[in-house]
Amino acid sequence: MQDFHYFDNAATTMISDRALEAYESCCRLHMANPSASYAPGRESKAFLNDCRSRMAKVLGVQADQLFFTSGASESIAIVMESLLWAKSPGKVLISALEHEAVSSFIPLLKEKGWTVEVLPAKGGFISPETLEAKLTKDVRLVAVMAVSNVLGTVQDIDGLVSVTRRKEAEFGRPILFFSDCVQAFGKAELRLSDWALDAASFSAHKIHGPRGVGLLYLKKGQIQSLSHAGGQEKGVRGGTENLPAIAAFTVAAEELAQRDDEEIRRLNDIVRTGLEGTKYGILTPREGSTPYILTIAGPLPSEVAMRMLQDRGFLLSSGSACSNNERGKAEAIFRASGFAKAAGGALRISFSHDNTPEEAQLLVEALKEIG
Ligand code: PLP
Repeated sequence: MQDFHYFDNAATTMISDRALEAYESCCRLHMANPSASYAPGRESKAFLNDCRSRMAKVLGVQADQLFFTSGASESIAIVMESLLWAKSPGKVLISALEHEAVSSFIPLLKEKGWTVEVLPAKGGFISPETLEAKLTKDVRLVAVMAVSNVLGTVQDIDGLVSVTRRKEAEFGRPILFFSDCVQAFGKAELRLSDWALDAASFSAHKIHGPRGVGLLYLKKGQIQSLSHAGGQEKGVRGGTENLPAIAAFTVAAEELAQRDDEEIRRLNDIVRTGLEGTKYGILTPREGSTPYILTIAGPLPSEVAMRMLQDRGFLLSSGSACSNNERGKAEAIFRASGFAKAAGGALRISFSHDNTPEEAQLLVEALKEIG
């Protein structure tokens, strides 16, 4: 990777030095299975619970509300699968911005008798008024991600949960509110307990932690998990815990507090200002978006632009890098957000603290050269 300027940090990030050290030291110090009853096993279990408490402190929630998983996709699946086997299916409201890890459940839910309505996302935002109009008595779950991985827009989770709670009180039956917080963690304000969410998902590799480890937040354990296996994580997520990855994830999460968003705003500004008066349009609004993600649209088809940029040493994506079918999925989100025309030439630039202002300037020059 030394030869590339990496601007695809919303897809994955480089593991931090301290997270990597924590991974290695855990492999050596806590090799015993946390389920083993002998002393080293009990020590591994204590270490696991220490990581959970530290993570709870970072997120401002209680440790017993957190469950380690193999990644955000699994955290999401635990929530969505819990609906599939319900005896009397109702309605689910899913935002048009959702990642495939959520939206791929739509056909399955429909097959099992659920009604699924997609919440429109004008300009990349889900409005509480739109949600309120769709909250009917049969709604059982609302899923709205906190920050869009495609556009970087920050959703008004506070407002969205508030209207849901108001309707819940009016109908006298619970409506679960789930938010995929993968791109919000470290990139936007996260207030899990204030928001009164029922469930939220997180991923380590988006915050300079390792791949293959994530987190599920459950406010009261109201979700019936199908993943019992060996009963680990209180039966919410079975399977031997990936302790070294959990240790590294915890350190990466603790390191977020030391990061300065101003540095990222500066990088974002360099690209925004540098592209003024060029053929590029900016899709990510400055107001209401995280500075870590900047999506632009240029005159060339995204794939062509990406290849030309790669030849010049720059790595970025066309909207989302999480599936083979990345363009199709991102395009649907652009369309739903009112950016259908720009979708074909969209490029997502996503920053991290590993990027420098000089690199951002070089990216601007490269974009101008090809565009
Ligand atoms: N949700 C969002 C918004 C994402 O950006 C991603 C990853 O790209 C995921 C979920 C899936 O996360 P993981 O790779 O940990 O399964």
